[in-house]
Amino acid sequence: MSAPAAASPRINPLQRVWLREIGVERLWLRPAPAAARPAGEAQTQAQAPAAAILPAALPVSAPAAGAAAIVAPAAARAAATAPIAPAAEPAAARPGMPASILNRNGPPPRPAPKAADEAPAPAPIPVADAIRNSSLDEMRDQVVACEACGLCKGRRNAVFGHGGQPTRWLVVGEAPGEQEDRQGQPFVGRSGQLLDAMLSAVSMSRERDVFITNVIKCRPPGNRNPKPEEIAACSPYLMRQIALLKPERILVLGRFAAQTLLGTDATIGSLRGRIHHLKTDEGLQIPVVVSYHPAYLLRSPGEKARAWQDLRLASRMD
Ligand code: URA
Repeated sequence: MSAPAAASPRINPLQRVWLREIGVERLWLRPAPAAARPAGEAQTQAQAPAAAILPAALPVSAPAAGAAAIVAPAAARAAATAPIAPAAEPAAARPGMPASILNRNGPPPRPAPKAADEAPAPAPIPVADAIRNSSLDEMRDQVVACEACGLCKGRRNAVFGHGGQPTRWLVVGEAPGEQEDRQGQPFVGRSGQLLDAMLSAVSMSRERDVFITNVIKCRPPGNRNPKPEEIAACSPYLMRQIALLKPERILVLGRFAAQTLLGTDATIGSLRGRIHHLKTDEGLQIPVVVSYHPAYLLRSPGEKARAWQDLRLASRMD
């Protein structure tokens, strides 16, 4: 008697849209050949062999979870002792900020700095102690009232972040855009719709198990790159969010967030496809997966298959 045909995995409409967009919908719904599955291994839809769903032209190059684990690079650790800006307080006097965030060489290239005597004074971090001791709700109020950098002057709303708890994945983007500034919520524009579809494709949701936030909580004018002093002023919020939410892993979206959090100026192409680790002051060591920013994927849909690999890498760590 022949074995009954394996049932196609059930997917919801959002998952279907994303799978169709990256051109693997039919492959995904077609059951993988039995020989491709390790004997006796139960598979959820998020665990189906990547080879069965990825275009042949894109070999799965990501190593197994943990295999390529690295910690923030040595250069970033060394930078922990360097001042964050001319005449700034020493890095060691800024608890709550990892070496990676203090690495002035880390974040993306910025416009050439002005001469030292023209440089603006570094923004103070007036509420650092309050942030360090705050609950999530208290910190939300602090963010809404924050005036630690000039971005507060142009904002409609600060965007603290939103998501489910307990938090399995923390998703970190760059900074609010126009829609996010209007609504006070992260990733609610077109990028956000794509992000939701991507998360849904691996059975994750911002309402349930994903918390979404940004490195910077207020919109930079014209969506320009955040400045180092803005990053320094805002970073204690992100670090406290990480300490309180204790996510199982962090998915970092885009070059800016990846370079800031990991303290490197490496390209996104070289950072993705492997697992990094973020060490916190609280002794947590949280796996970090880097992927493309959804706004970039909207401009370069050909890269969606690689973003799919990144999501699969993050999912495989479950
Ligand atoms: N882009 C981001 O990086 N974050 C948002 O919240 C929205 C768009």
